[in-house]
Amino acid sequence: MRKILIVGAGQSGLQLALGLQSSGYEVTLMSNRTADEIRSGRVMSTQCMFDTALQHERDLQLNFWESQAPRIEGLGVSVAAPDSSRAIDWVGKLDGFAQSVDQRVKMAGWMETFAQRGGQLVIHGAAVSDLDYFSRTYDLVMVSAGKGELVSMFGRDASRSPFDAPQRALAVAYVHGMGPRPEHPEFDAVRCNLVPGVGELFVMPTLTTSGRADILFWEGIPGGPLDAFQGIKDPSEHLAKTLELMEQFTPWEYARATKVELTDANGTLAGRYAPTVRKPIGRLPGGGLVLGVADVVVANDPITGQGSNSASKCADAYLRSIIEHGDRPFDADWMQSTFDRYWDTAQHVVKWTNAMLGVPPEHVLNLIGAAGQLQPVADRFANGFDNPADFDNFFFDPEKTNAYLAQVSGAASAA
Ligand SMILES: Cc1cc2nc3c(=O)[nH]c(=O)nc-3n(C[C@H](O)[C@H](O)[C@H](O)COP(=O)(O)OP(=O)(O)OC[C@H]3O[C@@H](n4cnc5c(N)ncnc54)[C@H](O)[C@@H]3O)c2cc1C
Repeated sequence: MRKILIVGAGQSGLQLALGLQSSGYEVTLMSNRTADEIRSGRVMSTQCMFDTALQHERDLQLNFWESQAPRIEGLGVSVAAPDSSRAIDWVGKLDGFAQSVDQRVKMAGWMETFAQRGGQLVIHGAAVSDLDYFSRTYDLVMVSAGKGELVSMFGRDASRSPFDAPQRALAVAYVHGMGPRPEHPEFDAVRCNLVPGVGELFVMPTLTTSGRADILFWEGIPGGPLDAFQGIKDPSEHLAKTLELMEQFTPWEYARATKVELTDANGTLAGRYAPTVRKPIGRLPGGGLVLGVADVVVANDPITGQGSNSASKCADAYLRSIIEHGDRPFDADWMQSTFDRYWDTAQHVVKWTNAMLGVPPEHVLNLIGAAGQLQPVADRFANGFDNPADFDNFFFDPEKTNAYLAQVSGAASAA
């Protein structure tokens, strides 16, 4: 039986560990925290996952919270005007629903399932020296430790990493008590509120440790008015700042949030990181090789809500590559081709996410504006969050955008 070590128990590490375990591999999973520590710890993400990524979980029968988590059926975009009214406001319908299950709930639950099914769970914060030893005793070592210190083993790929500094300051608050959404009370949606030159507010329903909740997530351009959370330690102060900024920049979202309270004392998160693509193979001091997984090798800014989706897609691609490889050695060539298979998908996410961090060009503004009049455009934009490769067909190139808009307007006026 092939022995595999996975370091890091997040979306990618746990999905891979459980997938390999059910295919008969002998899996050891190393986590720097216990399930209880994760469950009672700080929120880590907003983790909205779209249909394709959720399907990978369903395929492994890991969709334990699907019936409890709110079904997110749409994705809305609002753009603030200089007077803080809404210049643009629309919602696109998703072909398959999205869901956000608090990673504290999911990772803790999956970790317990892995152990109950006989998996070796080691609670230890791995260092490079540990991996040096383990690379000699396992057939394959994979590092799925997110954006932690172990990424230093993987060289930065400058050709795929246009930024060397964070592009947004992130501030998350999980709340109970949001009022109903007047625009479409009959279904849930992720709402993206763009405040030109300042940043973005994302509002989305989630399933957290205390049941259904909503997440208020500010992405602020560094140095701007939303970059206001550094140094705030008190969670209630964090929430007060979140609401103050909502009242100022997105009053339509603030109107629903006047009665909110934090879900728990660990329901806030603030930080920033530079989006980075890394080389997939880490070389250990003793000569052993390790393969990087998900955020370790491709860390995007969360502005497009893709990291957990990508982690699920990466775990799925790696799982298939491992199984297809049979009993042959997991050498450098195999590691590179396994990563390349994931990169086929990930490159589209990187391209689109990095574009969304910049100032939108005129044709993109036209596209976002046109989605308010043309429902098929809104729907296609929304479903791009599930399949970012589609943006290549109508988003980046002004000619393609104009041709697409002409085609949809023509069809609308002929109807
Ligand atoms: C504010 C914010 C909002 C986000 N919103 C979304 C969203 O809406 N949709 C979306 O798809 N993505 C979102 N993301 C991104 C998403 O959360 C991550 O991309 C995803 O969790 C990455 O999964 P992973 O498996 O690579 O790593 P992680 O989920 O980070 O898991 C890594 C694990 O490894 C552990 N670890 C670290 N170092 C060690 C060590 N030395 N030894 C052992 N264990 C270790 C960590 O504790 C952690 O448990 C968001 C991220 C942030 C910060």
